[in-house]
Amino acid sequence: MKIELINTGTELLIGDVINTNAAWLGQKLAELGLSVERATVVPDGMAIQDALGEACRRSDVVIVTGGLGPTSDDVSREAASAVLGLAIDVSDAVLKELTEFFAQRGKPVNEHNKRQAMVPHGGITLPNKHGTAPGVFLPAALGESRGLSCAVFLLPGPPRELKPMMEHEVIPRLREMLPGGEDRVCRYFKFTGLGESDISMALQNGLEAIGGLEIGYCLGKGDVDVRLSGPAGAIERAGVFCREALGEYLISDDRRLVEEVCVAMLSERGQWVATAESCTGGRIADRLTNVSGASRVLGHGFVTYANEAKTLHLGVPPELIAAHGAVSEPVAAAMAEGCLRVSGADHAVAVTGIAGPTGGTPEKPTGTVFIALASKGQPVEVRKRWFSGERERFKILTSQTALDFLRR
Ligand code: ATP
Ligand code: MG
Repeated sequence: MKIELINTGTELLIGDVINTNAAWLGQKLAELGLSVERATVVPDGMAIQDALGEACRRSDVVIVTGGLGPTSDDVSREAASAVLGLAIDVSDAVLKELTEFFAQRGKPVNEHNKRQAMVPHGGITLPNKHGTAPGVFLPAALGESRGLSCAVFLLPGPPRELKPMMEHEVIPRLREMLPGGEDRVCRYFKFTGLGESDISMALQNGLEAIGGLEIGYCLGKGDVDVRLSGPAGAIERAGVFCREALGEYLISDDRRLVEEVCVAMLSERGQWVATAESCTGGRIADRLTNVSGASRVLGHGFVTYANEAKTLHLGVPPELIAAHGAVSEPVAAAMAEGCLRVSGADHAVAVTGIAGPTGGTPEKPTGTVFIALASKGQPVEVRKRWFSGERERFKILTSQTALDFLRR
């Protein structure tokens, strides 16, 4: 089913208002396993008629937002009636509701408000509990005289009016329009520790072979989402395939971030974690504490930025730092072991690195980081990584890798 959006409003084009409606609608439709083929932004006024005419010729459903207000530049209703070749006049039922709405506020309906009661013939009005302008649904059959077969929804621009109307009036109708009531779903498989191209190399052919899937890749902050939409059965098979192909890199299939997965995992096991951070300045603990339930799994978070702090709080021997440098495998290991000892936690994660832009050496260039994990009764493990980019990116990738290390 081809779906298009048309977002109207000069304010969107001059940057006074950010087009959040397009993003929100895109997300809502993706959750239904439907994707938006195209979104057009047009100014107030008759430009919408051109846009709607084009959209109706190539799509099955067009969702228009805005232009239902009472002023002369709100012309979505008129544009739709012109495109579909429908007469338009005042709906008595809508006018009655408007009259009641204004009466409750002690006001009469003026001529401009009356425009909001105009409905193209055959259109079905969609109630608006949060504003005066009802939405309008124009079923695909209405465009027949113009050789069109495209359902049109006219929805209000203000997000607080649009959202409930979409949920209660539009989505149920879209579900009915799906061929054979097909049960389409959308699922996000979140991977970390591999680049986008490695992931697509490993997955693309296998996913295509399953058939019927729409496949999208989206680079996040330290992770990659593989977004799949299609029939429920195909999504199930895709899930099995993703686990077989890249299971160790798969964080979640429900959009949960690595920190959420860590908190859930530790909480389930009744275990505690502590953090000892240098270059990330507390980012790992910060990410863990963003998750509700973190207090059951995180007891201690040390930020030991200076060498003296590593010695004072974590018991890292000064000689070790003098011999290897603060950014080194032995110091990362000693930080994690010290953190485990001092906190009494089951796991301790430690990071020490060179965020840059200065401070690198030929052996340890800017971006070098050592990430250590110490767990009770097990030898400490250290991973060396190198992340390019500025400090913020370095912190994101380092904390991501540390949390991924903890998760495994
Ligand atoms: P109104 O009766 O308020 O005129 P309307 O249906 O004609 O309703 P618009 O005039 O297009 O809607 O928009 C009204 C307000 O809704 C805008 O000023 C803006 O704040 C918000 N809005 C409109 N379109 C969008 C959009 N695409 N994204 C986010 N906000 C929007
Ligand atoms: Mg308006």
